[in-house]
Amino acid sequence: MEMKAPRGTHDIMPEQSGAWQAVEDVIRRRCARFGFEEIRTPIFEQTNVFARGVGDTTDIVQKEMYTFDDKGGRSMTLRPENTAGVVRAFLEHRLYSGPMPVKLYYLSAPMFRYENPQSGRYRQFHQFGVEVFGAPSASCDAEVIALAWGLLKELGVEKLALHINSIGCPTCRMEYQKSLRAYFNDHLDTLCGTCHERLDRNPMRILDCKSPECKAVAENAPKMIDHICDDCKEHFQQLKTYLEVAGIPYSVDPMIVRGLDYYTRTVFEIISEDIGAQGTVCGGGRYDGLMRLMGGPELPGVGFAFGVERLLMVMEALGKLPEVDRTSDVYIASLPNDDARKKAFELCMTCRAEGIRAEIDHAARGLKAQTKYAGKSGAKFMIVIGDDELANESVRIRNMADGTEIESSMADVAKNVLSLIHA
Ligand code: AMP
Repeated sequence: MEMKAPRGTHDIMPEQSGAWQAVEDVIRRRCARFGFEEIRTPIFEQTNVFARGVGDTTDIVQKEMYTFDDKGGRSMTLRPENTAGVVRAFLEHRLYSGPMPVKLYYLSAPMFRYENPQSGRYRQFHQFGVEVFGAPSASCDAEVIALAWGLLKELGVEKLALHINSIGCPTCRMEYQKSLRAYFNDHLDTLCGTCHERLDRNPMRILDCKSPECKAVAENAPKMIDHICDDCKEHFQQLKTYLEVAGIPYSVDPMIVRGLDYYTRTVFEIISEDIGAQGTVCGGGRYDGLMRLMGGPELPGVGFAFGVERLLMVMEALGKLPEVDRTSDVYIASLPNDDARKKAFELCMTCRAEGIRAEIDHAARGLKAQTKYAGKSGAKFMIVIGDDELANESVRIRNMADGTEIESSMADVAKNVLSLIHA
């Protein structure tokens, strides 16, 4: 049987992982500057964490979860997103009894969704996301947007569009849902079967439907933004003001919705205008009702999630993927006898202790084969340990690019390689 990675998953190979790490470094530094700390939660949770925390009317919960019974007969689910798990951890560890706000991030965390795989859409993918708990003010919404926006700029993704919207609060949404139901009732013939069901349970979900017919009807539906209450209006106005203070351009897009009761007020997406269909790299919003829904205290929350593969795809399309040097600094070749090999091993360890990327042979190959390997591997410098070198306690360090050599005592090899690297 030919063994292959499961459909919709991918290996991150050594030629790619360097770019992942470089991007992750930028993200970590940026999160630290913004006062966010990392949280790592399990990749599976009890199914009800997601059924409640994501919402059982969503496509994610209804169609896309990898759910299984463990050997103890408990229903478990591989996480399809991370907010619900982070809220579960926040509550379990009672972080609500400490100082507020609590600002958390997770990075390159694997997520699992049973979706139709296509470019930029996978069954296992990775997200970077942030969650802030206990900060009701719109300045915090602007802060998380600024984190995401500036990150993309820092990574060289320049052509960006920020779309914002307000989906109000449960109070103003009640009125809105009435007019939405009335509107969709007049267009029942056009709506798909799923949307017929949504009409009763949660008509706002129809606005998210991917079917072109439903989309066309949704375009002319009443807009939440025209129905929000005065408090929500004020919050949205504040958000715009803070975005202006941060110098972040935005456009109001009434079509962005998150049709779940616990989402409140701000929703946003950041879209890279350089790639096509999968250009939405980041989506987020405020979810003031979630903590309560998951059995915790009344505490506001706001956050976003980035698709890391999407982000790297955009960077690659723009030629902005970080160049990662995968070659070693020095290759220490030796005659294939015990004394020479031991000395090479010792020098290699000394070099590595000084931060030099050093390599030796582990197959007792002849000098010719080792020299060939050193050239092929792209090592910047090479040292050969033969009988003379052992006898004199001295080596030559050869620059592989131009063939020049310098003499060095064995004791000073690390020091000399270091100064050659940094010359
Ligand atoms: P969501 O949790 O659905 O709001 O998605 C947040 C971000 O995760 C999206 O903007 C995408 O960048 C990314 N994403 C979502 N689903 C997938 C998927 N199946 N494959 C790859 N990336 C995804």
